Amino acid sequence: MEGGDMDVGNAKFGGQEAMVIFDRVFIPTQHIFMDGEFDFASLLVERFTTYHRRSYVCKSGVGDVLIGAAAAIAEYNGITKASHIKDKLVEMTHLNETVYGTGIAASYQGYPTSSGAYICDEMLANVCKHHVTRFPFEISRLAQDLAGGLVATLPSEKDYNHPEIGVLLEKYLKGKADVPTADRMRILRLIENMTLGRNAVGYLTESLHGAGSPQAQRILIARGMQLTYKKRLARVLAGIETEENKEEVVEELSGYFARVFKEEV
Ligand SMILES: Cc1cc2nc3c(=O)[nH]c(=O)nc-3n(C[C@H](O)[C@H](O)[C@H](O)COP(=O)(O)OP(=O)(O)OC[C@H]3O[C@@H](n4cnc5c(N)ncnc54)[C@H](O)[C@@H]3O)c2cc1C
Repeated sequence: MEGGDMDVGNAKFGGQEAMVIFDRVFIPTQHIFMDGEFDFASLLVERFTTYHRRSYVCKSGVGDVLIGAAAAIAEYNGITKASHIKDKLVEMTHLNETVYGTGIAASYQGYPTSSGAYICDEMLANVCKHHVTRFPFEISRLAQDLAGGLVATLPSEKDYNHPEIGVLLEKYLKGKADVPTADRMRILRLIENMTLGRNAVGYLTESLHGAGSPQAQRILIARGMQLTYKKRLARVLAGIETEENKEEVVEELSGYFARVFKEEV
């Protein structure tokens, strides 16, 4: 509101959310996906959310930016040599790549449905999204840890450009000698923007609730966790179940595991 581009943190990009009300809508027949076939309602939701939840791999790209910002502010603060700084950057990367890994794996293990359309692995898509409900919060916490309290208390660009106050800010907000104070302020504003400001809407709250709140994924994970099959693996290795007393185990399996293990089960 004071002008300039520094305080907004990311002057080039920001999301936009809208509330859309459908009132007296005309839907052409060819666009009607279901017309009374409510037996398939659950399957439709499960397949839609499988695609949607797998797409949350995009948050790892946002995570890359935040990890870069955290590494930059550590450098600008002049504290790169401390071992805990590197360890926190490693932790952030581990969390971020875990999101990336499950998203990519869900597609890699995709399989064709009888229509020929491909669907990604339901379990891994849900696990990817469930990671996303948690890890961006921890990555953001670590970014704020490395940034320091200035991430929330930084004076404005207008203050910085003020003839009297600006000189004091230039002196007291100086971090590493060869880094301009304004650069340090810009990175702090970017971290603020992504973890507290406009882009936290997409990186945090939308990560939590978009494509369903966490419990929605846990329901799908519970449905696909194949406990009967896994208990049987344990029983066989423990010597409880043998070829002679083998139980018939038939369980509804999902995705890749359905194709690979159904015959074995
Ligand atoms: C920034 C943002 C962007 C979004 N973008 C999209 C988008 O592009 N596309 C899209 O499809 N959706 C989008 N969403 C919507 C998202 O899918 C919903 O927010 C999500 O489904 C959760 O619904 P809700 O917000 O109404 O929360 P609620 O359903 O009210 O959930 C709040 C809490 O109540 C619990 N709860 C709800 N119902 C029950 C119940 N019956 N029993 C027990 N517990 C329950 C939930 O687990 C959760 O803890 C977006 C959301 C946000 C915040």
